Amino acid sequence: MRRGFPKYIKDEDGNKEVNPHAFIDPNVGEKMIKNITRSLSERNPKHKSYYEANEKEYLKKLNNIEDNYKQQLGSIPKEDRVFVASEQAFQYLTDRYDLKEGYIWPIDTDENGTPNQIKDLTKFIKSNKPATLFVESNVDTRPMKTVSNETGVPIYKKPIYSDEIGKKGEQADTYLKYLEYNLDVLKDGLKK
Ligand SMILES: [Zn+2]
Repeated sequence: MRRGFPKYIKDEDGNKEVNPHAFIDPNVGEKMIKNITRSLSERNPKHKSYYEANEKEYLKKLNNIEDNYKQQLGSIPKEDRVFVASEQAFQYLTDRYDLKEGYIWPIDTDENGTPNQIKDLTKFIKSNKPATLFVESNVDTRPMKTVSNETGVPIYKKPIYSDEIGKKGEQADTYLKYLEYNLDVLKDGLKK
C-alpha cells in the first residue's frame, strides 16, 4: 500500500499538483480533526478542555468507522479490488485500502468525458474487470453512462460521495455519515 501524504496527481499539462480529496480516507479525517482541535485551542485557550472533550467523543466514533473500513474493505478478495468513478478523486482511499483506481477525468481538468478519456477508461475496464462503476453525487452522469454502454459494466444503483457531503436532512449529511454511507456503497458495489 502506498500511504504517502499528501498525494500528488498530474494535471492536464503534466504539472504535479496536490490531490485535495484527502478527507475521503477516514484516517486523514482523523488528522484533520486533530488539527482543527489544536487550532481552535490555540485561538481560544479558555475553551481548550471543551474542544478536547468534543474531539475525544468525535474520534471515538471516527476510529470505529476506520476499523470498519479496515475490516470490510480488507476482506474484499483481490480480484474484486477495482474501483471506478468519474473523477480521479479517490486516491487516498484506494491507496490506503489497496484498490485499483480507474477514472474518466483527472482532477482539475477543463474537459470531463472526452472521447480519449472514455477510450482510456474503457481499456482499463476491459483489463481490470470491475463489478460496477460508481458515479459521484455531484457530477454529470452522462460520461459514465457512455462508459457503461460501451463496456457492459453496470453503474451502481446509488451515488458515491466525494467532493461534498449530502444536503442537510438528506443522506450522508455529516462527515461521519458520509464515511459510513460510502463504505456501504463500496462493499456492496465492489462485490462481483
Ligand atoms: Zn473533486
